[in-house]
Amino acid sequence: MTAHAYSINDQAIRSLANSVVAAPILTATKRASLIAEIKQLMQDKDAVLVAHYYTSSDMQMLAEESGGYVSDSLDMARFGNEHSASTIIVAGVKFMGETAKILNPEKTVLMPNPDAECSLDLSCPIDAFSDFCDQHPDRTVVVYANTSAQVKARADWVVTSSIAVNVIKHLHQRGEKIIWGPDRYLGDYIQKQTNADMLLWQGSCIVHDEFKAEGISRLRQKYPDAAVLVHPESPREVIQQADVVGSTTALINAVSKMDNKTFIVATDNGIFYKMRQMASDKHFIEAPTNGIGATCNSCAHCPWMAMNGLEALAQTIKTGCNEITVDENVRVKALRSVQRMINFSKS
Ligand code: SF4
Repeated sequence: MTAHAYSINDQAIRSLANSVVAAPILTATKRASLIAEIKQLMQDKDAVLVAHYYTSSDMQMLAEESGGYVSDSLDMARFGNEHSASTIIVAGVKFMGETAKILNPEKTVLMPNPDAECSLDLSCPIDAFSDFCDQHPDRTVVVYANTSAQVKARADWVVTSSIAVNVIKHLHQRGEKIIWGPDRYLGDYIQKQTNADMLLWQGSCIVHDEFKAEGISRLRQKYPDAAVLVHPESPREVIQQADVVGSTTALINAVSKMDNKTFIVATDNGIFYKMRQMASDKHFIEAPTNGIGATCNSCAHCPWMAMNGLEALAQTIKTGCNEITVDENVRVKALRSVQRMINFSKS
């Protein structure tokens, strides 16, 4: 397993994340009036809201109560495709809006804040990634959904964390060697699961990168009956602490399937909204980040997801601003790679 030579500027990505301003906290009156206004606007404008598990509980609740959907990035795009609304509003980060547009070219796709980035997407600029792929023409290029439309267009396959291991296993069994991008931890995890020959891009998620194995181990001593749930974007030492490693959907399912009453959760804490909904009698604890007592702008919650607020959402639906567009040539190529995964998931 070899890494590429391109040097990712982690510091610049972290500085950008630290400069992000979260959506404002609203008074109860303002919040209630915005929620009512947004529901009405969505009806008037024939729009549907799809929200990611990592957005605020308000955003997830609003999606559910207005006939929309809460899920991971691919399912969000799939839902938008199956829904009859002419406008899809994506509460999440930029690549999710682009994925929705890739699958729904005939629909209008809007986002409350199109400046909501993702450190994985930022770590994988198309020119550098494309050069890397060009240097290894014998390899199949598999990229994570957390990438730009251009990177998806350059890839042979797009995968989400829920299907990544199965896709790589399948390719490995066919004798294919892989280029994987951009998440190095997820790539490392998949490589260990499949034994595939993989060259890894060296990006990482600034949220999952903060979880610390030592802190989890201490927490386990305090809560010996707790199960540890870990998203595979986390470092290897954190994954080694896990009772369950899986995608957001897999972790949510685990809390209702497992008998444990307490869960230590190493992923974005936005997921607690859904976990509490699935198992209201259970107790959820955020996995420790960046050493005990430390603070940071990306500890257990994505600063870019936190940009999705009710005021921005109302403004977006009212004015039709923040429309997501994808160049048609890029879209068609990206769709081929996304569609491969969708077809694989049905096979
Ligand atoms: S949580 Fe990590 S992977 Fe998800 S959008 Fe934020 S930076 Fe990207």
